[in-house]
Amino acid sequence: MRYIHGFRDGGAAAALAARIAAAVDPAREYHLMEFCGGHTHAIFRYGVENLLPRNVRLVHGPGCPVCVLATPRLDAAIALAGRADVILLSYGDMMRVPASKRRSLLKARAQGADVRMVYSALETLEVAASNPDRQVIFFAIGFETTTPATAHLILEAQRLGLENLSVYCNHLVTPAAIQSILDAPGTRQWDSVRIDGFIGPSHVSAVIGSRPYEAFAASHRKPVVIAGFEPLDVMQAVEMLVRQLNEGRACIENQFTRGVTRDGNRTAQVLMAEVFELRPTFEWRGLGVLAAGGVCIKPKYAAFDAERRFAIETGTARENAACQCPSIIRGVKKPVDCTIFGTVCTPRNPIGSCMVSAEGVCAAYYKYGRRTLATAGEPKPA
Ligand code: SF4
Repeated sequence: MRYIHGFRDGGAAAALAARIAAAVDPAREYHLMEFCGGHTHAIFRYGVENLLPRNVRLVHGPGCPVCVLATPRLDAAIALAGRADVILLSYGDMMRVPASKRRSLLKARAQGADVRMVYSALETLEVAASNPDRQVIFFAIGFETTTPATAHLILEAQRLGLENLSVYCNHLVTPAAIQSILDAPGTRQWDSVRIDGFIGPSHVSAVIGSRPYEAFAASHRKPVVIAGFEPLDVMQAVEMLVRQLNEGRACIENQFTRGVTRDGNRTAQVLMAEVFELRPTFEWRGLGVLAAGGVCIKPKYAAFDAERRFAIETGTARENAACQCPSIIRGVKKPVDCTIFGTVCTPRNPIGSCMVSAEGVCAAYYKYGRRTLATAGEPKPA
């Protein structure tokens, strides 16, 4: 813990804040998007925004995989769970995410579906081995952080000959998403969002390395600083981005040198490449259909692919009309712009995905009381 405390030290934060204040050009604005909800929570929990000059705006981005899972994919998982022969397993955050018609996996379980929460994908192996007469499906979701574990699950299922185990794959590809955000015509229609640089996710980058971000930083002239999830990590990343922007540079810089290298974790990458391949397109909630925005299971492992085994088709879904999650995920709006934030929609009664996950923006606003600051005149994205 002493190691952690060093990254939360108030004196060091004040010194860093002074350096940032000295570095910023008062004649310009800096709009910096943090892609990951882990950063968002560090920012809110430790009041990082309050330590920054007012012309440094933090734009809260997609957040976490739970926040950006397209509702039709969740609807399909709930439909799978409703089959009498199926046991469906997934991570805890996924259980309470509202699907179409206010359904959720938790509600499906209350109505009799066999839905189980797991802490590790590998728990699926034991459930499948213990229930040979049932179809056991792992509802896999996550950025590249959790994709290697799902690949390992499939390889283990094959090694053990578990023919009743399959994976409903919803793994997302982070750099492709950032690239698509910058590429897509729709992005340019986000006329109220300006992004000058990105704070990149450290957990994802520990797996994939910093190299995959290099192409779009060069092509779009947007600097990226990969940062850890402690408050001083975030503040140092802000300082590094401010300096890049001042100097007209658009490079990939790595603040999280204690965990991220340029090449990442080769063992995890080999695992992912063995089992998964890029999808041509994949829908992200709020961001729309992104080129190469996700991965699917390669044909050689088709026997473990729930989408093939159960011929899963995803349709369209109607979102709750009041929920502003898609705009919040894009950084266009803040939770306090949602009329039901903190009243109808709370962590105990989430209406949208951003209120569910521990990394969701709405959950962060609610937990750390940002309503007060926002209504007191917190700056909003231009
Ligand atoms: S407060 Fe709830 S309903 Fe409103 S945008 Fe956030 S998650 Fe959606």
